[in-house]
Order: sequence, then structure tokens, then C-alpha cells
Amino acid sequence: MVFGFGRSRDDDDDFDSSSEFEIESILFQGAINGKEVDLKANARLAQAGLVLAKELISDALARRADMIRVDPKGRVATVTLYVDGVPFPGSRMPSQQALAVTQMLKLLAGLNIKDRQKPQFGGIVTDYKETPYHLLINTTPLKSGGERLVVRPRNQEVQLETPDDLGFSENLRVRIRELTSQGKGVVLVCGPPNSGVTTLSFAVIRSIDAYLYSIFSLADFGGRSITHISQADKVEGETFDKELARAIRSDADVVIVEPLHSEDRLKVVFDDATRVCIVAEYKAPDAGTCVTHLRETLGADIVSDRLTMVLSQKLIRLLCDECKQAYKPNPKLLQKVGLPPETKVLYRPPQPIDGEEPEECYKCGSIGYFGRTGVIQAIEITDPIKKLVKSGADARSIKNQARREGMQSFQTDGLRLVAEGKTSLEELQRAFKA
Ligand SMILES: [Zn+2]
Repeated sequence: MVFGFGRSRDDDDDFDSSSEFEIESILFQGAINGKEVDLKANARLAQAGLVLAKELISDALARRADMIRVDPKGRVATVTLYVDGVPFPGSRMPSQQALAVTQMLKLLAGLNIKDRQKPQFGGIVTDYKETPYHLLINTTPLKSGGERLVVRPRNQEVQLETPDDLGFSENLRVRIRELTSQGKGVVLVCGPPNSGVTTLSFAVIRSIDAYLYSIFSLADFGGRSITHISQADKVEGETFDKELARAIRSDADVVIVEPLHSEDRLKVVFDDATRVCIVAEYKAPDAGTCVTHLRETLGADIVSDRLTMVLSQKLIRLLCDECKQAYKPNPKLLQKVGLPPETKVLYRPPQPIDGEEPEECYKCGSIGYFGRTGVIQAIEITDPIKKLVKSGADARSIKNQARREGMQSFQTDGLRLVAEGKTSLEELQRAFKA
């Protein structure tokens, strides 16, 4: 259903079409939860909030925002745009307008506009420049009055999930293929919240040869499907262990399960890992810590015997290739960060020259970065690492051993991207400061 108000900007009488910098406008197409949106019954709200909401979202999308936050503070509300995960202060608006925008978006998302005391979550199906976007809407009541609005636009077409997109080294891809073809063992993918863990699991799954091995998924990837992977049917009331046993009986070589948040599930997975290879997500800040967490929960013997690999990812911003600036790094810097001394050129966002600001960049909006990629850390549980696990070694020792064995680490992978001119040293520092 396309609402009658989903006109393009050209049709708006009050819009100055002579403007060169015309912002292409977003079309709201309906609530994700399927609720009918009655604009007639809410005509006053629509009049107060519809145009403002369209302007806010269209402007944010034009700037490639992946999150928009509106915080009312007294009589004004501040708008913060997050581009590639980094916050940029946006405009300010009177709190009355912020209220109208928030209520309008709640209405469009099929949420309850009368309720302003409870947090609400929903989404709107939209179209922006002929690209489908889902706008995920969160509202949270504030102690000081009013509600905070968070909007997360999700491009439904672009998905970063192939091993190539993510920068898996050829060696890593080969190792994943080998480890997942043994018909046993656990491969875990971990990372902090919002680090793209699910994207990383997709890339791991795609590294497996789906023509040679039968892959079963017991996980729901938010409606996204992967070719050549059988989605196991859900049986009402079936427990996780029974579900997994059923997948194993159907001759699965690899089974993908839902993220392992509970200890019970973790135990089931490690129990069954003698009969099938299991791939899952696990919440841990990095791969080394994941191994030591597991050892605390399951014991050193089970972990060293059945865990085969842990991967972790952090997202870093890519330099904008329209405006990135080459510079000659000094030898001391190269030595300090561990880049080869013969490195002749590195890149960074454009810097002011003699106090003059660099020229505006139409592509990245003069941020200097455009898009993100993952830097990946992998720890394969080799014999020396098994020994470390059994001897009670800490996460750092395990990580260092992995690096000595030539496995991809955050540092090596990040520096590779710097050396290739895809990101800057400053961005690596920023991403790893947290
Ligand atoms: Zn640029």
C-alpha cells in the first residue's frame, strides 16, 4: 500500500523546485507490523508532523546515516546522525516539532501514539531513491519528560556478507572450509553488540562448500535466506536438543544454530559436536576472551577437544576514495605501528592546508570516510593452543600464540587495510580505543 502522501518532491506546490540542492524525498509505504495507518483520523498530527518527518529522514538518508537520534531537552531537541557508526551532531529543533515527528513516525510504524510512558519498537516500510529501506523505530520515555526517538534505516538491498566483502584472507577461507568439513567440532563467531556478528556468521557459512556438504540451519536470520542451505522445519514445542538431534539424523554435515546465550544450549552444542560440525554466535568481546569464557563454563578438556575455531570482528570505516589524501609516513611511525619500513605512501582524510579547509567532497559529505568493513580475528584451536587452554593460560597468551602461528588478528588485518590505502591509522586507533 502506498499512501496518498507519498508524492515526490516535484509535486509539492510549496517546494521551491528551482533549488539545485533538492533533497529527494522518502516514500512511507506502511507499517512493518501490518497495522493499518489511519491518517484521516489523525489529520492534525499528520499536518504537524508528516512533512517534518519526511525532511528529517530524507536528509539523514542523503547523508548516509545508519542511525538518527532525537533527544528532547527542555524546549529544544537535538538531532544526532550516526554515519558508519560514528555520531555527528545534526540540527536542533523546537521540542514541539520533535514531538510531532516522533508521534508521526510512531503512527506510521503502527505503534500506539496515545502511550508515551512505555518504550515502543516498530518499523516502517519505505522507499528512498527507488531503494527499499526499513526504518526501525524505537521510542523511550525520558525522566525529564518527552520521549527519545531512535530511527535505524536498514537498506534492504545492500548486505555485506560474502567472505570477499568482509576481507577473509585466502588462508582463513581455506581453514574454515577444512574445519567445517570434518563432521565435528564447534566454530564460534563472537563480538560485542552491533559489531556485525551475524554478518560475520553469514560469511563463515558462505565459506563452506554447500555443494559438497549438507548444511542445515536451525537459526532464523531475520528472513534472509542463503542458497543451498536447508532451513529445518520448526516443530511446535520441540526443545533445542531434540531439534539439533533431528538435524543430525537428517545427515547434516554442518548445522547452524541460534546464538548461544544460555549455558544449557552451550552444553547441548558441545555434547553433540562429536557427531556434527556446529556453527553459532556467542557473546564475547573478542576471540581470546571467548575461549577463556568457554573454559570457565564447560571445562578445559571439552573446550580443547571440541572447539575448532573462534572468529571475531570489529567494524572500521573505509576512506572515501574521492577525497582521501596520500602522505609519506615517517619511518618512526611505520616502525611504531608495525608496518614495513619500505611503505612509501599511506592515506588519510583530507587535511586543512595552510589553515584552509579542504574542498567539500560530494561523495562522503566531507567526512573523509565512506562505508565500513570488518577487521577479523581468527583463533584456530591448534595443538599448541589446546595446551594453553588446558594449562589455564589467559586470553592474551592464547591470542599471541594464534598470531605467532600466522592467524589473522585485528592488528594484522587492520594494518593490511591501512597498507592497501583502504583505511587510515587514525581510524584503526579510533576503532580499537573502545
Ligand atoms: Zn570524500
